[in-house]
Amino acid sequence: MNMKYKFKTVLTLIVLICLCIVSTGCERQIVSEPISKTEFMMDTVITIKLYDSKNEKTLEEAFDRLRQIENRMSKTITDSDVSKINQNAGKNPVKVHGDVYYVLKKSIEFAELTDGAYDPTIGPLVELWNIKEEGENEVHLIPEKEKIYEAMNKVDYKKLELLDDNNVFLKEEGMILDLGGIVKGYAADEVKKILKDKGINSAIIDLGGNIYAYGEKPKDKYWKIGIQNPFEFRGSYVGIMSVVDSSIVTSGDYERYFEVDGKRYHHIIDPKTGYPAESGLSAVSVVTKNSIDGDALSTSLFILGREKGTELIKKLGNVDAIFIDKDGKTYISPDLKDKFELKNEKFNIINNEY
Ligand code: ADP
Ligand code: MG
Repeated sequence: MNMKYKFKTVLTLIVLICLCIVSTGCERQIVSEPISKTEFMMDTVITIKLYDSKNEKTLEEAFDRLRQIENRMSKTITDSDVSKINQNAGKNPVKVHGDVYYVLKKSIEFAELTDGAYDPTIGPLVELWNIKEEGENEVHLIPEKEKIYEAMNKVDYKKLELLDDNNVFLKEEGMILDLGGIVKGYAADEVKKILKDKGINSAIIDLGGNIYAYGEKPKDKYWKIGIQNPFEFRGSYVGIMSVVDSSIVTSGDYERYFEVDGKRYHHIIDPKTGYPAESGLSAVSVVTKNSIDGDALSTSLFILGREKGTELIKKLGNVDAIFIDKDGKTYISPDLKDKFELKNEKFNIINNEY
């Protein structure tokens, strides 16, 4: 064998070995990485990550279902069932899809449970305040008292009638359904159902911070979920919550708001005052089994405040919460104590004993 030939063979061997190392390295990485899909939908960024499946089609199906839910329940999509109910307020009952009927039924349950702090007919007040993402509110006025009063008079879940055969009726003209405080929770539960049906047992379903940490995380078991710091930018955390198969939903005054004279006007409205809720809280996170409960409750507890909110979760059982007040005092349910790791010393952990 001449030198040139020998050199070529050695070179080829080296290249082959390198390729082998690189490809097995990649393969190992691919196996342990989840597959994931992100889309902007329901007015937020939605990401689903599957940890024990490589089936892209399942991801597509999950997003198809989310689109379907949005198309039925959004009040800004003019031919959604919810819009049809709104357009027919004070006129006619509207026959809706079973999904919509179910979510409305749940929303009335939460309205009753919270004595109207949560109210699915909050639409007139939400539209009047018209509070958008931070930065989109440059020129914004506080609505006139008269207008607030008028809108308040159109908010009353007792005038939302669920009739036979999936018919729904808003009894007064000008009433407007708004399911923004519950629909992402419902949607997360629906995605979980699809994944379960497909034999998938490990996933993160994240609808703009409304999170379902489904099943167990491969190897680590616990999912580590960051609890957003309500005083800082997105991605800065108060602490980390370790959970298995749970929904974690947060409501806060930092998501959508505008400021006038140093006062913050945010998007969670207290139906009893007609103004953005002022319960002393900056954020509340709720840990539950079902995300629909977590979503409705996070909005409700934010309005009710820590004391009334604690009474409610005590009554319900199976619901854990972290209340963060405006001073950074962080009240934590007994069952979450060992699952929560504080990451920011500015926050003061207080055991919310009950
Ligand atoms: P987000 O979905 O923005 O993360 P929430 O789950 O707390 O936060 O929902 C807030 C949304 O709920 C508002 O944008 C509005 O559509 C609706 N909402 C506001 N106030 C109430 C209320 N008192 N009862 C029911 N829904 C409300
Ligand atoms: Mg909510």
